[in-house]
Amino acid sequence: MLNRHRIFLPYAAYTLGVLSLLAVLCFRFPELLTSQEFRAVYTTEFARVLLMLGLVATFVLGTAAVLADQRRPLALVGLGSAGIAVLLGGADVEVGQVDPTPYSLGLDWFILSLFFSALVFLPLEHYLARRQIAVLRDGWRTDATYFFLSHVLVQFILIAVTASTSAVAAAIAIPRATAIVAALPGWVQFLLAVFLADVAQATLHRAYHRISTLWRFHAVHHSSRDLDWLAGSRVHFVETVLTRSIVLLPLVVLGFSTSTVNAYVILVGLQAVVAHANVDIRFGWLEYVLVLPRYHHWHHARHVDYWDRNYAIHLPLVDMLMGSFKLPRDGSWPEEYGVLKLETVPEGIVAQHLMPFRRQREYDDYVA
Ligand SMILES: [Zn+2]
Ligand SMILES: [Zn+2]
Repeated sequence: MLNRHRIFLPYAAYTLGVLSLLAVLCFRFPELLTSQEFRAVYTTEFARVLLMLGLVATFVLGTAAVLADQRRPLALVGLGSAGIAVLLGGADVEVGQVDPTPYSLGLDWFILSLFFSALVFLPLEHYLARRQIAVLRDGWRTDATYFFLSHVLVQFILIAVTASTSAVAAAIAIPRATAIVAALPGWVQFLLAVFLADVAQATLHRAYHRISTLWRFHAVHHSSRDLDWLAGSRVHFVETVLTRSIVLLPLVVLGFSTSTVNAYVILVGLQAVVAHANVDIRFGWLEYVLVLPRYHHWHHARHVDYWDRNYAIHLPLVDMLMGSFKLPRDGSWPEEYGVLKLETVPEGIVAQHLMPFRRQREYDDYVA
C-alpha cells in the first residue's frame, strides 16, 4: 500500500518494455514462440497497433520514472527492453515464417492475457477493492510465475489434456446421446455444456478436498493468503491437467460442437479470474445464479465451516444439488484466507510442486 503511486511508473514501464520486447520476438519467431490455436484469435494488424502503443507508453512512463527518481534501475530495464525492441524492428517488424509445428510456446497468449487482465483488473481492484491489498503483495512473484508458465506452456497442457480425454472418450462413446446433443440449438448446447462441465468440476473438486493424496495438490491453490485476480493462477500442474481433462471429458464424450467447447473454454478462463478478484461489487440475487467473487472467496475462507463448501466455478445450482452450498445472506466476506494449517504448504512454485510428492504428512495433519 505504501508508496503505491511511487511504484506505478517504474513497474508499468518495466512490464510494458519487457512485454514489447517479447512481442517483437513473437513476430520474428512465430513458429517457436506463438501457439497455433491462439494465433487464429487475433490479427497481425491488431498486434502491431498494440505493440506500438506499448512502446510509446514504455518510453513516456519510463522517462517520467527516471526524471522523478522512482526505482530508476527498473525503469531503465523497461526503457532498455523497449530500445532493443525498436532496434529489432519495433511495430514494423517483419513476420517470420510459420510452418506447422507440434510443439511451440504460447508467449503471445501470455503477453495478451497479462496485458488485458491487468488493464481490466488493476483499476477495478484499486477503486472497488474489497480489502486493501498492494498490487505487489506477498507471494505476487510466485503467482506471476504460475501465470507465466501456465500460459507459455499452454500447448503442452493442451496436448496432455487432449491425449487423456480422447483416449477415454473413444472407449466410452455413446452414439445416441451424441445425436441428441447435436440436434440441440447452439445456446441450449452451451448452457448444457456449462452445467455438465461444472458438475464434473465440482465432483472432482470435492474429491480434491476429501482425499488426502489429491488434497496435497489442491492445497497449493488454497495456500494464497490474499485473493486477487492473479491469485487464481496458483494451481499445481498435476491439478491443471487432471481438472481440465475431467471437465472436458463429458463435453467430448457427448459430442458437443467445437464452437460450444471453445466458448466454454473462454468462459471458464474468464470466470476463474473473476471469481478470485478482490472486488466488492453488490450483485444481489445474481450471486445465487452465477459464481461471483464473494461465492468463491468463501470457498477459500480459512474457516472450518467453509472448508467443504462452494465447489462450483460457474453455477451455485451445482452446489445446491450436491448439498455443498453455503453463502452468508448478510453479504459478508471471509475474515481470512488460506489453508487451515498454514505450515503445510511451502512458499515458491518449486517447493509447492515438490510438496505433494514428499508425502510427509497424513491427511489429519493438513485439515484436522
Ligand atoms: Zn478447493
Ligand atoms: Zn480458487
